[in-house]
Formats: sequence, structure tokens, C-alpha cells
Amino acid sequence: MKVTIVGTGYVGLVQGVILANFGINVICFDTDQSKIAKLEQGIIPIYEPGLKEIMDKNVLEGRLSFTNDYKIAYNHGQVIFIAVGTPPQNDGSADLSYVAEVAKQIGSTLKEYKVIVNKSTVPVGTGKLVKKIIQDQLNMRNTNINFDVVSNPEFLREGCAVNDCLHPNRVVIGVETEKAKQVMQAIYNVLFINQVPFVFTNIETAEMIKYASNAFLAVKISFINEIALLAEKVGADTQVIARAMGMDGRISPKFLHCGPGYGGSCFPKDTKALINIGQQFNEEMMVVSAAVMANEKQKSRMVDKILDTMGGNLSGKTVGILGLSFKPDTDDMRDAPAIDIIEGLVRHGAKIKAYCPKGMEESKWRLSDLQANILYCNDEYDTAIEADAMVLITEWNQFRGLDLELLKNKMKDKYFFDLRNVFSKSNEIKHIFNYYHVG
Ligand code: NAD
Repeated sequence: MKVTIVGTGYVGLVQGVILANFGINVICFDTDQSKIAKLEQGIIPIYEPGLKEIMDKNVLEGRLSFTNDYKIAYNHGQVIFIAVGTPPQNDGSADLSYVAEVAKQIGSTLKEYKVIVNKSTVPVGTGKLVKKIIQDQLNMRNTNINFDVVSNPEFLREGCAVNDCLHPNRVVIGVETEKAKQVMQAIYNVLFINQVPFVFTNIETAEMIKYASNAFLAVKISFINEIALLAEKVGADTQVIARAMGMDGRISPKFLHCGPGYGGSCFPKDTKALINIGQQFNEEMMVVSAAVMANEKQKSRMVDKILDTMGGNLSGKTVGILGLSFKPDTDDMRDAPAIDIIEGLVRHGAKIKAYCPKGMEESKWRLSDLQANILYCNDEYDTAIEADAMVLITEWNQFRGLDLELLKNKMKDKYFFDLRNVFSKSNEIKHIFNYYHVG
């Protein structure tokens, strides 16, 4: 079987590499020439643990290649996976221009039956839109070629995307024809040999499953963050609350960790897109809207907490930031809480020193407006030199083993704000620092 992957980002590249590893002949296509040039040299443009080794092996064995020529790409696969970005627009709706562009090019090149699979996260109705754009192109060419559009949303998590792609909880496939269903089954049976549950449904339901799932997880995070704000005021311990809540099988302990608010390329944009879909259909998404508001409040509460604790003014103070990416094991800074928190601290006069194992390159351009206020450091201890406070924003594993005494000795003052509760069970840190955690 031959497959084309469109978009070599966090989703497309991982999917392409994994399919190739199971013997499928894969071409990955991207309009970003610099990404394709890097991939052709064996350089992965993103940080995703474990991906490079599998990619190199499959390139070497001739099952995986890269192109920026859309004609080569679209003629290659019997199945074309669309994994391009669907970023948020000002009104919260998903920008479908990249998906539409792909559909247009597919329609202009289609010569035989193909299955067009939408893996990007897209609003309800996008499957129909893709079908219409392709059909319009065929009509313009006075050609009649059969094709199917499928919705197959992706649930992988950055940082463990390879594992998630190999061991998904479920595979959701929205189809309109038996033929497309069999093609999709054939592909996924190669990967999972029937061990993973499939949910076959219509395209609209598949599109909604993705938004509903992400919005639910965002609600869960905002919920526990709100409990944490209250717990701090009433003298309760949110981590114990969350653990006890999670022991109830109906609740589950996952996504009940309070912190600085959710971020990343999915939850912020997908919650807003769902709210926007609701508006279009005159159905207000009240619970999800509240979760979005609570998340904004959570990020600004983190700034307030630091500000209030340090005397209400950060002028002349230096704050060391540990971790910038929106979560550990990724370089992705899209909507990372670190962005809002750093902006807030600088607004109150702080100078920032920052270190992140993988997020610094992206941070440099995302926070370029603040470049005069941010010094990027070589490591955790470099960040601490002359700092008044340390703020741990992303819980990279390497921060768990920090030499706290050494860190403190390099600092000017001894505030430590642990926004991920990495050290909240340690008595040592409370002796060394003025230590504050969340909840
Ligand atoms: P990304 O921004 O990392 O990658 C998208 C890629 O598509 C880019 O390399 C871009 O150059 C390319 N592209 C844009 N237009 C193109 C075109 N016309 N032809 C070919 N390539 C084109 O995005 P991502 O994080 O991989 O996300 C892709 C989709 O998957 C989004 O809809 C996202 O919501 C969804 N998703 C993402 C994740 C995640 O964790 N990142 C998880 C599940 C679902």
C-alpha cells in the first residue's frame, strides 16, 4: 500500500514515520521547503523523542521519502492523510485555508480512486467542504473520478507521540462508504492487528469526537485549577483532594493536576473552535466557555501570586524561569503558559532569565517583543545566578533532580515558585527556599 501524508508537523511526520515502519510506502509532503530540506538531510524539524531513529531506518530502507512537489505527492498514495495546521482565527474559529488548499490540489491532480483522510482537527462540516472542493476541481476539469473523504482525528500527545501512535486508546473513523471503511481497516490492521478498538461512525460524529474529547480534558484541568484556588484560601491540599477524587473510577486521576493552566497547540484552540461552532449553530457552549475563562484567570493568578509574594513590585528584580515549552519533552511553545506568565512578570518590571531543554529557540521568536528583558541561559544553574526568584513552569524530568542548595547559593534572594508541584512533597526545599506551590 502507498500512502501520502500532507503536512510534516507533529502529527503528519509521526504518522508517516510509523506507517512506513510497518511496511507501507510513504511520501510526506510539505509546502515548507526548509522543513523538507531538513528532513531530506535526516534532520527532524521538531523535537519528538524516539522519532529520529525510526525515521532514519525507514528512509534507509526505501519506504519513506519527502517532497515539496505536490504533484508527486498526490499521485503517490492510494490514501492521502491531511495533517496540516488548523490554527485559531481572531473569532476562535479554525482557519481551514490550509485544508482547503490541500483539497484543491488533490482535486486538480486526481487520476484514480483515492481515499482522502482528514487527520487535522477540523469543525463539523469540513469533511463535506473537502469533498465539495475536490468535486468542484474535477468538474472544472470535466472529469468524473470516484473518491472518498474520511474523518480520522488524531489523539496523540506531543512528547510521547510515537508511543501514542502505536498504542492509541481508540481509532475513530468517520466514513460514508463501505469501500473507504475497508481501506482504512486495511491500513490500521497493519499497525494494530485488531488489538485497538475502532469507532466507525459518520464523518460529522468523528469530527465532533475530537473537539468533545479535547474540550472535556480542558474542562477537567480548569476544574481542578479552580478547586486549587479555593483550596489555597481554605487551607485544603489540592493534591490530596485530586488523589482521593481520582480513586473514584467514575472520575479517574488523569488530568487532575493543578498548575499554571493548560496550553499547547490543541486545548486552547480546540476549546475556542468548539465555542465558535456552538455560536454558529446557536447553541452556547457554557461549560467549555467557563473552562476557557478559568484558564485565562489561572495564568494571571500565577503572575499575581509571584507579584504579591515578592512585595507587589518586580522592578529591579530578576526572575529565573525553568521550562518554557507547554509541556515536557517537546519544543512546542504554542499557547504555552510560560508566554503569558513571562509577559505578566515583565509588565510588572521583572527581568527574566530563562532556560528550557528544548523550548528556547521557539521562545526567542515568540517572545521577540520582550527580547531586551529576557536572557536565555545555558542551564538551570546559570539561570539562578543573581536571580531573586525561580519559577518552575514546565516539569521537565531534569528539574526533578536539581541540586537545590547549589541553585540557592547562586541566587540573590530565595523565592521558589513551583507551578507544577514538582517539589511540593519535599521538606528540603522548604528549608532552603521561600517555597510556594499551586493548590
Ligand atoms: P504543525 O503546524 O506542526 O504542522 C502542520 C504542517 O502542515 C506544517 O509543517 C505546514 O508547513 C504544513 N502545511 C500547511 N499547509 C500545507 C499545504 N497546503 N500542503 C502541505 N503542507 C502544508 O501542526 P500539527 O501540530 O502537526 O497539527 C496538525 C493538525 O493536527 C492540527 O489540526 C492539529 O490541531 C491536529 N492535532 C495536533 C496534535 C498535536 O499534538 N500537535 C494532536 C492531535 C491533533
